[in-house]
Amino acid sequence: METEALVRQACKKFENDKGRMMDVLWELQNTLGCIDDHSMEIVARELKTSRVAVEGVVTFYSFFSREQKGKIILRVCDDIIDRHAGSEKIASAFSEELGVPIGGTSSDKTFSLEYTPCIGMSDQAPSALINGVPITNLTPESARDTAKELIKGVCPSSLVKKTGDGNNSHELIKSMVNNNIQKRGEVLLSTDVSKSAGLDAALKLSSPDVIKEIIDSGLRGRGGAGFPTGEKFRLARNTNSDKRYVICNADEGEPGTFKDRVLLTERADLLFDGMTIAAHAIGSNAGIVYLRGEYAYLLPYLESVLAERRSAGLLGKSIRRKKDFDFDIRIQLGAGAYICGEESALISSLEGLRGEPKNRPPFPVEKGYMGKPTVVNNVETFCCVARIMENGAAWFSAIGTKASKGTKLLSICGDCTKPGVYEVPYGLTVSELLVMVGAHDTTIVQVGGAGGVMVGKSSFGRKICVSDLATGGAIMVFGANRNVLGIVDYFLEFFSEESCGYCTPCRVGVIFLRERIKKVMQGLADKADLGYLRDLSKTIKMTSRCGLGSSAPNCVINSIDEFPLVYSSHMREKSDGFAAGFDIQKALDESRRIAKRTSMIYDPVYGEERGLGE
Ligand code: SF4
Repeated sequence: METEALVRQACKKFENDKGRMMDVLWELQNTLGCIDDHSMEIVARELKTSRVAVEGVVTFYSFFSREQKGKIILRVCDDIIDRHAGSEKIASAFSEELGVPIGGTSSDKTFSLEYTPCIGMSDQAPSALINGVPITNLTPESARDTAKELIKGVCPSSLVKKTGDGNNSHELIKSMVNNNIQKRGEVLLSTDVSKSAGLDAALKLSSPDVIKEIIDSGLRGRGGAGFPTGEKFRLARNTNSDKRYVICNADEGEPGTFKDRVLLTERADLLFDGMTIAAHAIGSNAGIVYLRGEYAYLLPYLESVLAERRSAGLLGKSIRRKKDFDFDIRIQLGAGAYICGEESALISSLEGLRGEPKNRPPFPVEKGYMGKPTVVNNVETFCCVARIMENGAAWFSAIGTKASKGTKLLSICGDCTKPGVYEVPYGLTVSELLVMVGAHDTTIVQVGGAGGVMVGKSSFGRKICVSDLATGGAIMVFGANRNVLGIVDYFLEFFSEESCGYCTPCRVGVIFLRERIKKVMQGLADKADLGYLRDLSKTIKMTSRCGLGSSAPNCVINSIDEFPLVYSSHMREKSDGFAAGFDIQKALDESRRIAKRTSMIYDPVYGEERGLGE
């Protein structure tokens, strides 16, 4: 079929609705291998929007490409845990065997090879996605074998020789991913969780009574910010509107997080039950799950669970024969943008826009998706809602601490013998956590992902809970052999790449922080540089528009506070009267480069003057 016809068909499939731009672009990326200028023009015409708007969306998401990609795209996970596990060697093995440079595409357009940020498999690193199929626990040898099979024409899904545990072996998933559930708590991971007991209980109550039950339970959002869930429901319900939405944030992109992957695999019914209860509570008839592109392999299974629920009368018209209760859920696939885990950016993405955060207030509960009151919660929170309605607020609030009720799912990875998913009551100390996961000689526990808190040994008595170490669930453990400054550098690199670029403090400030950290790493910094790092971090935190910018400098401030000896051991002494940190050769090289000039010095090896600096 001609490109014109294909593009028009893709637009028509989504009713030429510009709000479904992401779906249209996914369709084109999958069928054409790219979204080129010509395609963008047709999309703009068909969706009645501007070419600039379409291009803005295409270029925002790393899984969309204007250039022709290979038929098979290998994305090697490049998060810090995978780096420590040897991702560089994996990428090199693929590159050598396939004859494709990292970041490149083969001349016959068969293979593309690139790095990608965390794909949610840090418990089975190093890992990669091959046309969306997760390949885990890679070694350089297995990477070479995989490449050889691909060259022979084996399709990526056939690379899965042995499926993982639980639903990973379901015929619609068939994945080698393992759940790695290390500890089952009574709220979410205990066995025999009902598909609809929560909803059935909720439908016996009025909407205000459901909200009261959730408020009484003390449930707070499991994404890290910890906003009271029942209060969110109440605010959305009390905002006057003809329409309200329930949105599930299944975009866990925080490096080192993978617990929602397990819930989506093993507790999909519980999630959809919780969303339906939320719909009953706030008066909504439409729900959307925003599923991160890295978890596309779960999409057919999740769609099948939705279909089963429709057949069982748990979704659709007159749910459980309740005449005035219609509600359905669709799944929107993301396309590789970390910032879309931020709720207002996620809403922008769902509206078919670049995934840029919106100004707040107004908050989504007043003006969210399509300008209507919207409840956004993550997978774990909705699952908790269902269990609270099934067992009661008192049951839930009896678990955990005074301010942090219930259990918390933690995804724990890095330097420990038992990486995986743990469901623990709130209030666990970091020391207890390290014993639980089999970690020894630990230097850093990174709680809450790249923008979270860097906890050093002196703070291992701190507790995982909303009032102390609040976390969405990412815990990375780093042993004594790890380089503290290297980890800080990685986090800053991550944020500088994931910044949406809207505001200057985040877009530029994080790059400046990284430059100064590199100066420390090179042994060229002095005390003034530490002052600069602190001051700039403070400014970025205060002036950034969203959580990404305000949390990006945390690793700098935390590491200076927790590891003063690491910094002091890298400080350059001011002993010669010159400003410490001023590298004269580097400065000269830079000025030569700018002036496009070559300096001449006498080279004793050649016995003549030779050029420098090119
Ligand atoms: Fe974008 Fe960063 Fe500003 Fe957030 S803080 S809006 S990610 S530039």
